[in-house]
Amino acid sequence: MSLDLPRTELRPDHPAADEIRQRLEHARSTRLAQLKALDETGQSPDDHLMSNQKDAIKRALTEIDEAFARLAGGTYGICLGCSKPVPPERLEILPHTRHCVSCQSRAA
Ligand SMILES: [Zn+2]
Repeated sequence: MSLDLPRTELRPDHPAADEIRQRLEHARSTRLAQLKALDETGQSPDDHLMSNQKDAIKRALTEIDEAFARLAGGTYGICLGCSKPVPPERLEILPHTRHCVSCQSRAA
């Protein structure tokens, strides 16, 4: 089994790396703002719902960082489960996703 992934040359039908970077930046700043808002409104630190929410946001931030790294490494948009390209429509909604829809539902 060969492990060499096709280098994602950003073909014309793919959004340019700049655009992806912008989407990721946007996703990151949105999450950071959410986190800050939670911190500011949070009176009870052991509120379960809130800490779940924070964990989810932190997880997303980690995934966003990973997506930046994949973008730099040329493997952005490749599903980590099946090594196939993640559909662009999905990347538009979830720019930092690691998996295509079918791998995601298998992982969930
Ligand atoms: Zn997959």
